[in-house]
Amino acid sequence: MSDDASTGPPASSTGDWQPVQWRVGAPPQPAWGEPCNGCGLCCLAEPCPVGMIVSRKRRGPCDALRWDDDGRRYRCGLLSDPAETTGLRRPWALRWVKALARRWIAAGQGCDAQPIQVREIDA
Ligand code: SF4
Ligand code: SF4
Repeated sequence: MSDDASTGPPASSTGDWQPVQWRVGAPPQPAWGEPCNGCGLCCLAEPCPVGMIVSRKRRGPCDALRWDDDGRRYRCGLLSDPAETTGLRRPWALRWVKALARRWIAAGQGCDAQPIQVREIDA
């Protein structure tokens, strides 16, 4: 395990335990309805609908999820850097991706993820 890419917690949104890699220093999940703080747990457990398209999978960490070292939080790459995340270059396409993502993931809304259980585990 690297220094900053630990550990360990199981997360569950489908009833069963699922280990996810969670950055040390990521903020804890806020209460339901509180502003999203970029804890990243929902996106680490499984992609949202638009993330499923990007990631081509239904479980596990979303391929569009990015760690912001300066902000010490996770960010959706479709919003923070759609060019890097999608490989698209045309400005109109990038604007379209951002607008679509903003609408689909309800950016700016409160945390709507079920409480995700986190358990530290020894490496
Ligand atoms: S929606 Fe909630 S669980 Fe998902 S990253 Fe934001 S705060 Fe974390
Ligand atoms: S909000 Fe962004 S990073 Fe999170 S699951 Fe959806 S597409 Fe992926």
